[in-house]
Amino acid sequence: MIPAATSPETLRLARVLTVTEAEGPGRRTAIWVQGCAIRCPGCFNPHLWAAAGGSVVAVRDWSRALLDDAVNAGVQGITLLGGEPFEQAAPLAVVAAAARARNLSVMTFTGYDYADLREWALERPDIAELLAHTDLLADGPYRADLIDHQRPWIGSTNQGLRALTDRYRELEFTTLPDRVEVRVGADGMISVNGWDDIDSLDTLLSDLGRRADRPPKR
Ligand code: SF4
Repeated sequence: MIPAATSPETLRLARVLTVTEAEGPGRRTAIWVQGCAIRCPGCFNPHLWAAAGGSVVAVRDWSRALLDDAVNAGVQGITLLGGEPFEQAAPLAVVAAAARARNLSVMTFTGYDYADLREWALERPDIAELLAHTDLLADGPYRADLIDHQRPWIGSTNQGLRALTDRYRELEFTTLPDRVEVRVGADGMISVNGWDDIDSLDTLLSDLGRRADRPPKR
């Protein structure tokens, strides 16, 4: 069962990328939230499980600035991922509604099954509202034994990619590639997002790990 609803006023946030092409259709602003009670074996984001991590933001002011940046960057939509977005459905419904009001699309990832979310939504307005403001839903827990080699963005064949509105109804998922983005910050910090086959990701991440251990050049 999904945990109780959180306040619509605040959001526990992990990370934002203003522009990415690896987290859904086209150029998007990606928002990773902190906290996930599902804890799939083999999850690539276990650092986002802890409900006490990340930082807490005041949703309305924060999302206004975020969406200004998104519109100025020319993205076609926002993507909500985590962590588990539906465990913070109330504040994310506020963000998603504000995005849709600016004609930005909304893609939402969840480790819960769509059928369960629809059932819970009958008594949980926060879940109903986030579903109502989602154009494209990726649902279901990650299963490391069921790797998906056909569709982009998601990890395993049990997971769904569902167009909940007409916005992405015509999208042919199997024609779209997986992408991985690697960023090197001004401070030398390396960050990775996106999805590829497991062998490529393991190779990339283990190599980054070794690099982190190297002594700095003089
Ligand atoms: S639902 Fe997503 S973030 Fe949560 S454990 Fe599963 S893969 Fe990881």
